[in-house]
Amino acid sequence: MSKEQAETGSLQRLLAHVGAGLDQYLKFEHPDALHPDRNWREYLNIPLPQHGVGIEQVTQDLLDQIIPNGSPVPRPGFSSFITTGSTTASTLASTAASVASPQRYMHTAFNFLEELSLQWLAEMCGIQNMQGVYSSGGSVANLVALGGARQSAFEKIGHDSSADGVNRPVSVYASEECHHTIQRSCGVLGIGRNAVNLISCDDKGRMRPDLLTRAIREDRAAGKLPIAIVANAGTTNTGAIDPIQALGEIAAENFIWFHVDGAYGLPGILDERISSLFQGLELADSVIVDPHKWLGASVGVAATFVRDRQILYRAFTQEPADYLEGSVEQNDAATMAIEHSLDDFGIPYFDFGVELSSPCRGVVVWALIREIGVQGMRQRVKRHNSMARYLAQCAKRHANLEILSEPTLSICCFRYVSPGITDLDSFNQKLHRRLIRENEYMPSTTRVKGKLALRPCYVGARAHQSQVDGLLEAVLRIGQEMAARD
Ligand SMILES: *Cc1c(COP(=O)(O)O)cnc(C)c1O
Repeated sequence: MSKEQAETGSLQRLLAHVGAGLDQYLKFEHPDALHPDRNWREYLNIPLPQHGVGIEQVTQDLLDQIIPNGSPVPRPGFSSFITTGSTTASTLASTAASVASPQRYMHTAFNFLEELSLQWLAEMCGIQNMQGVYSSGGSVANLVALGGARQSAFEKIGHDSSADGVNRPVSVYASEECHHTIQRSCGVLGIGRNAVNLISCDDKGRMRPDLLTRAIREDRAAGKLPIAIVANAGTTNTGAIDPIQALGEIAAENFIWFHVDGAYGLPGILDERISSLFQGLELADSVIVDPHKWLGASVGVAATFVRDRQILYRAFTQEPADYLEGSVEQNDAATMAIEHSLDDFGIPYFDFGVELSSPCRGVVVWALIREIGVQGMRQRVKRHNSMARYLAQCAKRHANLEILSEPTLSICCFRYVSPGITDLDSFNQKLHRRLIRENEYMPSTTRVKGKLALRPCYVGARAHQSQVDGLLEAVLRIGQEMAARD
């Protein structure tokens, strides 16, 4: 009965069905986002089908069983971690790319938009004179940047670390608040997780330059080769921004690669109230930013910027492959050949990182920026930052709330307090469990200076002021109920 594949010409009809299902999903009428009924599991959990049901039934399954039981992440009140749903522009662009340009290579409009959007993204985020490459997320973007750092440090002493490995003790400097993908990248790159020297922070979660200088001096005396200094342009925990200018100057004085991890926070530069905190960005040798965090891209889009992609080319050199022969070398980043041929790979992004096959991500970033422009992005970023500030102000005024970190960006860490509560950590942990079960307001928790905090982080295009009011109201109500019972 079942056909081998759907006939062409069915996308318009079927996508309209799926689109209607997605519109319905985005109304978030499902009563309990975290614990929906589980009947769908029984329906979906069938043995490997030997015979297919056809595209109509696949579409129906998507509509009936799968989409309605999706994730709470796109909900307006979801403020856990640093993640959100994609905007309509992003969904349209990635769907278009999945059909019209499954790969980013070859000289297509999509390959062109990889480069154009990287340049737009750089300009929007205050990055000058750098070249970029997309990857799947901040994890890989950091890996690619640190690959460049490793290559550069070893080339200066006449050693090709990409070919011959890391052959002497090395160190990478990052703050104790850095994202754990810094250590993992170092593990993957043969630098070693333990080579990451975690520098202590001040009481606002920012790396202390004096301690960095001392650590470099001690490591040099111990014969270690410094690979990179990593600055946070927005820590994952609290949104703190390291003193970029000071750290960049230390890097320059010591001839050490300077990496700025702006996966989350770099778009914060659009908010004039805090843009001066990003001063010194021009000292960076590499910068990353995740459009899938604050800019509304569907998950799977990050960018690494370096001064010259040739360093990435050398760091991530591929062995020659006959099936690519004659294809990969004829384009360099500066000149884009206009001929159309199978040999014309456009800009060879696959040479600048760890992915060969890759979806087109530039078209997504292009769509996001084209839709609302820099001004629209600025408005959104400022709205989110204002939400965190407003929350902090309200918490300061209320006797039962305590701020644990003053917001820099769109994160505010706070907790419920009351003189009668002996263990505030476990009280707030329980409060959090009830909060996310009973309400649409879903922050995550973290620890700030050892204390358990509720941690809303606002990055979603659908996140608005009303979610802050709702969250505050719910935290106070649940806290008071729990405190009365204790
Ligand atoms: C989220 C984050 C990462 C990792 O990014 P993914 O896209 O989740 O892989 C790296 N660095 C910082 C500062 C982050 O906030």
